[in-house]
Amino acid sequence: MNKKIVVIGSSNIDLIMKMDNLPKPGETITEASFMQVYGGKGANQAVAAARAGGNVTFINCVGNDAYTPQMLENFKADNINTEFVFKDNNSASGHALIMIDSRGENFISVAPGANATLTPDKIDNAKTSIEEAAILIMQYEIPLKTIEYVLDIAQEYSIPVLWNFAPAQKFDIEYLKKTEILVVNETEASFIVDVEVSDRVTAEKAVYKLRELGSKLVILTLGVNGVIYCNENGIAHVPAFKVIAEDTTGAGDTFCGSFAVAYVENKSLKEAITFSSAAAALAVTCMGAQPSIPKRSEIDAFMVKNL
Ligand code: ADP
Repeated sequence: MNKKIVVIGSSNIDLIMKMDNLPKPGETITEASFMQVYGGKGANQAVAAARAGGNVTFINCVGNDAYTPQMLENFKADNINTEFVFKDNNSASGHALIMIDSRGENFISVAPGANATLTPDKIDNAKTSIEEAAILIMQYEIPLKTIEYVLDIAQEYSIPVLWNFAPAQKFDIEYLKKTEILVVNETEASFIVDVEVSDRVTAEKAVYKLRELGSKLVILTLGVNGVIYCNENGIAHVPAFKVIAEDTTGAGDTFCGSFAVAYVENKSLKEAITFSSAAAALAVTCMGAQPSIPKRSEIDAFMVKNL
């Protein structure tokens, strides 16, 4: 069996309305089109790792609502171990209400629902699984006290943690010392180190500053401009693959999940980043987060064609 990847994070049900113009307060738009997809950064990254060929366990909390049974079926269909997906009967699963207009402007409102009940006691219940992990992956859509608790346990058991610091929120900077791999985009990097990332020079400055805070490897994703990363050997850039982007939702999540797979397969750092950039590039060519996440065979074929 492959080395174990444990993802600890959120799952959401996304309810999306597309319309020509967003409503003003009090206004009703009657010509929207509706789409429901499954998202949440934790779930997206678990799906990305599983489809890239990883042996994935997902630690998560779902609620009690009409959409949740299908969400759980989807995890199983992707061969994700759901033994530690806990159910909270007193809340709904996490939901995101998204309204998008024809220019791509949006209103988004998220109800964390059951994601807020992923508390440290649930982590204790899943400890057997965490102890066996070759890598842990987290984001920031679950309670901060849980993130800190996991980072403490990971340090105690010497398990590497990939922390995708998204969405950016307040935290105790000391915890970066317990993070082996920090993955951020431009906004998240700027939030932590107060450097506005606008070009290669400012990106490198931000990456150096982030690494000084304690993570062994810092990866800064720059959308269409690729990735800058820094470890003890210095700084390097991997360009993005050239594709026609349809929807960039979930690019970062696909990158993180597939990177974890490359990491446990002991690929070199450059190979791992190229592999996850290929997976993320494929993900931006289709609509929606989870539907667009590629399978291993698709990533491998894409790399053969484009490298
Ligand atoms: P996030 O979704 O967290 O904001 P990014 O937008 O930085 O993350 O995207 C993550 C990675 O996905 C990028 O580093 C790149 O490899 C890939 N990617 C994103 N957008 C594109 C694009 N338009 N074309 C090709 N690759 C892309």
